[in-house]
Amino acid sequence: MNSEEVLKQTFGYDHFRPGQKKVIDLVLNKQNVLAVMPTGAGKSVCYQVPALMNSGVTLVISPLISLMKDQIDSLKQNGINAAALNSATPQEEVNPILRQAYQGKIKLIYITPERLAMDYFRYQLNFLDIDLVAVDEAHCISQWGHDFRPAYRQLLEGINSLKSKPNILALTATATPAVQDDIGEQLNIPKENFVITSFARPNLSFKVVNSPQNTPLYIAKYIKAHEGEAGIVYTNTRKKVESLTDYLAKKGISVGAYHGGMDSKERDEIQEAFQFDRFQVIVATNAFGMGIDKSNVRFVIHASSARNIESYYQEAGRAGRDGEESEAIMIYHPGDLRQYRFFIDESEADEKYRELQYQKLQAITDYANTGECLQQFIVQYFGQDCKPCGKCSNCLNQDDLTDITTDAQKVVSMVYELDGRFGKNIVAQCLIGSKNQRMKELNAQQYDHYGCLKMNQREAVSLIDYLIASRFLEIEGTKYPLVHVTNRGWDVLDGKIIVKRRIAKVQQQKRIFNEN
Ligand code: ADP
Ligand code: ZN
Repeated sequence: MNSEEVLKQTFGYDHFRPGQKKVIDLVLNKQNVLAVMPTGAGKSVCYQVPALMNSGVTLVISPLISLMKDQIDSLKQNGINAAALNSATPQEEVNPILRQAYQGKIKLIYITPERLAMDYFRYQLNFLDIDLVAVDEAHCISQWGHDFRPAYRQLLEGINSLKSKPNILALTATATPAVQDDIGEQLNIPKENFVITSFARPNLSFKVVNSPQNTPLYIAKYIKAHEGEAGIVYTNTRKKVESLTDYLAKKGISVGAYHGGMDSKERDEIQEAFQFDRFQVIVATNAFGMGIDKSNVRFVIHASSARNIESYYQEAGRAGRDGEESEAIMIYHPGDLRQYRFFIDESEADEKYRELQYQKLQAITDYANTGECLQQFIVQYFGQDCKPCGKCSNCLNQDDLTDITTDAQKVVSMVYELDGRFGKNIVAQCLIGSKNQRMKELNAQQYDHYGCLKMNQREAVSLIDYLIASRFLEIEGTKYPLVHVTNRGWDVLDGKIIVKRRIAKVQQQKRIFNEN
């Protein structure tokens, strides 16, 4: 049978999705391959089809036991016998599983990376003919990623120790070019064997909602307007999960809570209730995620912003896995990001790692403040490009595109005058002519541009964030992020670039009123 026939016979699909055939051909040619495909693209098929075509066994390295369980259940539904070997497997079951694999009755064995590091297990594996090692969630191998897992670092050594010399297929949905290179280097995958399909998720509409007055109410209204549609609401603390769940339940919404503080039985029950639509909505921390395979999630709302674009895209990407139109909404509160910054400040991680976290935080801040297409912003973050999507909140923004060049010039001049010595809050206070103690200490009145902007501090910070996101200004330094002017910023001062921003009519009237 060729790969198309296996796809049809075993999985019931008529055609390969983009990238699948190419990956499978390379894998069957005994190449080491990296497949980067968005969530829902169908990565599993890329090693499951070869597993059925090869004579021996395929090892699948997977980071989570719950993930393995789901995969094995769905394989069994398709009549494929697979098994997991992990810390939850009773010792007396290990040998029978290995024996069945030896006899060709089990084609796929799922293990954690930690298990492959165990000498005795490697010894046992050497009785098997292993054709292929599939490394799922391969970004966990890279410190540049967002989910680093030390045991992934030892994978190549473990794989190389296997007598049958299998080839490797690494798979991930979230990898920037730096992470892709890192995976390639660590697993010995040549660049020409990187198969990277488009990161764009054309059935998702992205939306940023800037500081709503009442976030729980906003969410409740949204859910009520989407009756009968399943959704996930992410927030960042267990306490917020509980209070938001209570609030939504009081509004008559069928909702369950999920966070890492609940015991695993409780969590399984909630997950199952959601899977079978007994709850419309789950409110969760980021503990809810990997391993849920509900295809008809119609919306994912981040009640507090994610910490980086990678996590955001992964979490938001749980909407619309069935390809139907779905929404991904991020509610932006600058305070959340300040809090994350504080966590990084306080963390014990080494300097380099912290620096990376600050950069990732800046990228998600830019996402929240950009005026450009949100889908395009994300795709570009991952090193690709796409056309404006035409349906994100920025593409659909009908507010007047206002010429803000004069204000932008004022900000750039102020930043220049302050000589890159201050962060955005001080810059904002100088711009609006704040009279607080800090301004007195700095003798801020000496600056030509002190007080040149007529707006409040929140608006001034938002304008600075917008200019950073639009690359007229940039942040240097990490723990103390200082604002600097970029080359594009100089072009604004020279009048070579017109700066525009969409501003709601009400806001514009308010400003004119303020200026008088
Ligand atoms: P990923 O791991 O990339 O997020 P999965 O492997 O879980 O995605 O696949 C997502 C869904 O797409 C699954 O329900 C899977 O059965 C389905 N699928 C995979 N390949 C195809 C295909 N060629 N045609 C139709 N559906 C497919
Ligand atoms: Zn768009």
